[in-house]
Formats: sequence, structure tokens, C-alpha cells
Amino acid sequence: MAPVTVITGGGRGIGAATARRLAHAGHHIALCYRRDHNAADAVLADLRAAGAQAIAVRADTTDPEQVRALFDAAAELGPLTGLVNNAGVTSLIGPFTELRVEDLRRVVDVNLVGYVLCAQQAARRLTDGGAIVNVSSAAATLGSPGEYVHYAAVKAATDTLTVGLAKELAPRGIRVNAVAPGIVRTDIHADSGVPDRADSAVGRIPLGRAGEPDEIAAAIAWLLGPDASYATGTVLRVSGGL
Ligand code: NAP
Repeated sequence: MAPVTVITGGGRGIGAATARRLAHAGHHIALCYRRDHNAADAVLADLRAAGAQAIAVRADTTDPEQVRALFDAAAELGPLTGLVNNAGVTSLIGPFTELRVEDLRRVVDVNLVGYVLCAQQAARRLTDGGAIVNVSSAAATLGSPGEYVHYAAVKAATDTLTVGLAKELAPRGIRVNAVAPGIVRTDIHADSGVPDRADSAVGRIPLGRAGEPDEIAAAIAWLLGPDASYATGTVLRVSGGL
């Protein structure tokens, strides 16, 4: 039976690259997006062209009912085997003293509450051999001073969620890991007000370039799959040395 994987934020960026890679590896895929219907549709067409059974579900991961509906829809593809907890947001880059409380709450809501709600649905449904990969960030250990310290703090919470959940679910044969990307070429930087960040930040990246979404997808696919059968509770940094 084909693996069945839910990918949150699968319409664009790292989530879309992960969906395409997993479809080629034989997964059936439920991808969730929040607003960008056209982007999700384009990914869906690629997944089906690769031979995957795939659905796109509009669901806001901060809403428990919409998250439950997402996992119910995924169940139509077969028994759940994996979750890629990826849907995340930043807020405007700037000094900590200028942070607006509504931006802080949004970052916590999507990147922490959303991850917990999705992991909870997955934990209830996964069986022996199942796996969760949380997309964290190198920011969790760098702290992102002058940019978005609050986002970095929430990504550190993702790492702790990974460690704790890995221990709690290990007796059931379910693995939980995280990937911590550095600066990756996606639209997320436009949302933080610096659309060219993948190029303008190159000077601080030891490998001298930003990452591409598929380079992160490769790590996610490895942690999700049987080749990583003895890896759980780990945070795999994929950051060009950052
Ligand atoms: P992106 O290109 O901005 O794509 C974000 C995706 O998440 C979109 O599909 C978006 O849906 C979806 N999304 C956002 N909020 C959502 C919500 N509340 N409910 C459901 N879906 C939601 O982002 P990305 O750069 O690929 O980032 C993916 C993950 O990697 C995030 O967790 C981010 O923090 C992390 N990360 C990224 C970088 C980087 O440099 N890019 C670095 C480190 C970590 P719509 O298309 O419908 O808006």
C-alpha cells in the first residue's frame, strides 16, 4: 500500500517541493493551503502527473475544526503514514522594539498552535512505522537579532515539540524529527518585507548561496522514510553552514 502523507503549506515553497518529491517516491498526498488556490492547483497537477493520488484541501492550520477536516479528507487516500508540519509564517523584519502584538500572536498561532493541532491529529491516527517531520528553522539557534526574535523563539519551541513528541510516541513505533532550514529561496521573504533576502543575505552563509526548496525537501523525505528508521527526536540542520 502506498504511504499517505499530509503536507501543510504544500501549495508553495518548501511544502510544494516536498509534495513533488514525495509523489515521485510513490506517496499519496493531501496538501493543505490557506489562500493561494491557483498555486495549490498547479502542485496538484504535478503530483497527479507523477502518478500520485493527491488532493488539495483549503484549511487554516490554526483552526482545530479545519485541521480535523483536513485529516478526515486525507483518510480517503488510505491510512495515514506521515505528516510534514510545514505551514509557517514570519512577520515584518525589524527591531524587537517595533514588534506589533498582532504579528507576535499570528506567528505563535501558525507556527506553534498550528503545528501542535496537526501533530495531535496525526498522533491519533498514525500507527507503527508512521512519521512526523516538523519544519523548524536555523533561526531557533541563531535567535534572529534585529530581524524577528519572536519567530526564532517559536521555532525553538518547534524543536522542543519534536523532542518531546518523539519520546512520547516512540513506544508506538512512530518517529518525530525536524528539519531546520537556513535561508531558502521562497516567497516567505516577501511576506517579511525583504523579497530579495535569498540574495542579499548571501554574505553570511558559509556555502555562499541561499538554499533551494528541493534541497530542504530531500532532508524531509529522508527523515519521513524507512532509511531514517532509527532517527527520532533529531533536528537536522540544512542551512549551508549558517
Ligand atoms: P512560503 O513559501 O511562504 O509558503 C508557505 C505555505 O504555507 C503556503 O502554502 C501557505 O499557503 C501556507 N500557509 C501559511 N499559513 C498557513 C495556515 N495558517 N494554514 C495553512 N497553510 C498556511 O513558506 P516557506 O518558505 O516554504 O516556509 C515553509 C516552512 O519553512 C515554514 O515553517 C518556515 O518557517 C520554514 N522556514 C523557511 C525558511 C526560508 O528561508 N524559506 C527558512 C527556515 C524555515 P498559501 O499559499 O495558501 O498562502
